[in-house]
Amino acid sequence: VEENKDNTPHQVRGAFYSKVKPQVRKNPKIVSLSESALNLLDLSKEEVLKDEKESAEILTGNVIPSNAQPIAHCYCGHQFGSWAAQLGDGRAISYGDIRNQKGEIIELQLKGSGITPYSRFADGNAVLRSSIREYLCSEAMHFLNIPTTRAASITITEDQAMRDPLYNQQIVYEKCAVVLRLSPTFIRFGSFQICNKQGPSEGLGEQMIPELLDFIIKNHYPEFNGKEDKYMLFLQEITKRTAQLVAKWQSVGFCHGVLNTDNMSIVGVTIDYGPFGFMEHFDKKHICNHSDKEGYYCYQNQPSACKWNLLRLIEGIKWAVNEEQAKEYVIQNFDKIYYDHYYTLMRRKIGLFREDLYEKNLQLDKKIINNLMDYMDSSGSEFTNFFRKLSQIKLSKESFDENGNVKIEQSDQELIKDLLGFSAQKDSIIERQKPMFDESQLFQIKNLQKSNPMVLAMKGITEKFIQEQEEKLEKYFEIKDLTEEEYIENNESSLRIWFKLYKKRLAEEIQGDSIDFDLINLERKQKMDSVNPAVVLRNYMAQQVIEQAEKGDYSGIEKLLKVLSRPYEDVKENDQEIKICKITPGWASKLCVSCSS
Ligand code: AMP
Ligand code: MG
Ligand code: MG
Repeated sequence: VEENKDNTPHQVRGAFYSKVKPQVRKNPKIVSLSESALNLLDLSKEEVLKDEKESAEILTGNVIPSNAQPIAHCYCGHQFGSWAAQLGDGRAISYGDIRNQKGEIIELQLKGSGITPYSRFADGNAVLRSSIREYLCSEAMHFLNIPTTRAASITITEDQAMRDPLYNQQIVYEKCAVVLRLSPTFIRFGSFQICNKQGPSEGLGEQMIPELLDFIIKNHYPEFNGKEDKYMLFLQEITKRTAQLVAKWQSVGFCHGVLNTDNMSIVGVTIDYGPFGFMEHFDKKHICNHSDKEGYYCYQNQPSACKWNLLRLIEGIKWAVNEEQAKEYVIQNFDKIYYDHYYTLMRRKIGLFREDLYEKNLQLDKKIINNLMDYMDSSGSEFTNFFRKLSQIKLSKESFDENGNVKIEQSDQELIKDLLGFSAQKDSIIERQKPMFDESQLFQIKNLQKSNPMVLAMKGITEKFIQEQEEKLEKYFEIKDLTEEEYIENNESSLRIWFKLYKKRLAEEIQGDSIDFDLINLERKQKMDSVNPAVVLRNYMAQQVIEQAEKGDYSGIEKLLKVLSRPYEDVKENDQEIKICKITPGWASKLCVSCSS
């Protein structure tokens, strides 16, 4: 620990954290509480609101509870693949942790509580907009059964911060807020990088890293405590948790946006909600972070980014594990763990629940799922709605012809029609496929690639990039000249082909002799609806609440939280007090979400 309580930003050598003083905030007011998150602290909303003023002071760090010791963590990180040296909690302060009645360890952290030794050039503030997004999404993820840090409260203050929210050199003043975040721990992969070369504790790895790792194992992986190979067991477990976590993200279309090593939890929960986004019109290359122009952390890159981060974690803990062996473990096992979990989740999403059939249908199921995702990618189908609707699929006696082959029935026709309704407009698909180069430019580049590859390499143009551009160009021409009708027909024909394959496999799920199709269809629908959310936090929904809040009406936050806490229940778009959008209006689909927070 670094004892000095001077918050001025500096390099912090030989410490995992610094004692700090939270910045005093003007006139704090609680604007929302999450009952479910407060329960982790054995608290209820009622108790917190009993002395609302006192609570607001504690929830912003103006008053420090007597048993708390405010600290800021020291960590480093690789950001977008490059070493960034010391980062640390630049605007978050931990009060320490508690053990709740269930015996769980919970660290309490205020985010937006002022500058710390780790603030670098920034102001230590979190604006209302990004605080609402973090608060709502943390809780939404929890209710989607995805491991995550939690958010218990959001408290506004009269402080303001200067921001450029649209990244267009338009500086505005925004309201500030403080969120109380909860997690078993906020220690990250990056916390283990402080002894790296050019890290603030360079040269102290032998001394510091096993100590930090022992702390983590003792508190969060107690099953390995005292074991001779505890570090390697820990590594295997965090590999598994991380791989399964990213599989869960993929299965709900969640894009994190900033998968730097400092945003990877050492206990495998989702951490740091910045420019995240839920996939709307499916696009494997979807980028949710406006600042990530190249798509470094786009949807399809998330699993490999997480794997890459695990390798960086190993480099950070090389004083505790055999680096080569540990890396070999991740390289050999990450993909398998990821894909096993991903395909299990995706099978459930399409109604394949019988695990006794998984082994036998391994290749077939992968094909069905991959073909579906290819279809959704090329049609830009609305991710959440598509899966939710699919649960209406019905099998009946008439589903099979005399040879036992499946037929496309009237009910299938109707379902296909509904599912087609979730496709993206042709124009937006064309826009997405627009290659960077036209045919003749690409021809020249390819010639150059043969004759003088160095020139291209120097410009960062790789073979893979050229290949991607070619594929884009091909697809682009494929659909550019289609009429709107032909485009829909194309989608319909792909979906019908998929449906046949899928329905045949679905029929295999039926067990027993006396077949009650109504019951089977109903049960399947219920099971599918319990894994395919009816509602996720779309940017547009958050945006409505944010705009109200910026005008001083905070009531939308809790109303939306209530809806997000029951994501598997059907919602009607209009019978909610808060407008729940099932399809984001066109004008709002390009909402800009950047790192400005
Ligand atoms: P992020 O991209 O949110 O993971 O943040 C990267 C680093 O920047 C972390 O060390 C944050 O604590 C720090 N940071 C981000 N915003 C601020 C801010 N407004 N004031 C101080 N530090 C910040
Ligand atoms: Mg972060
Ligand atoms: Mg952040």
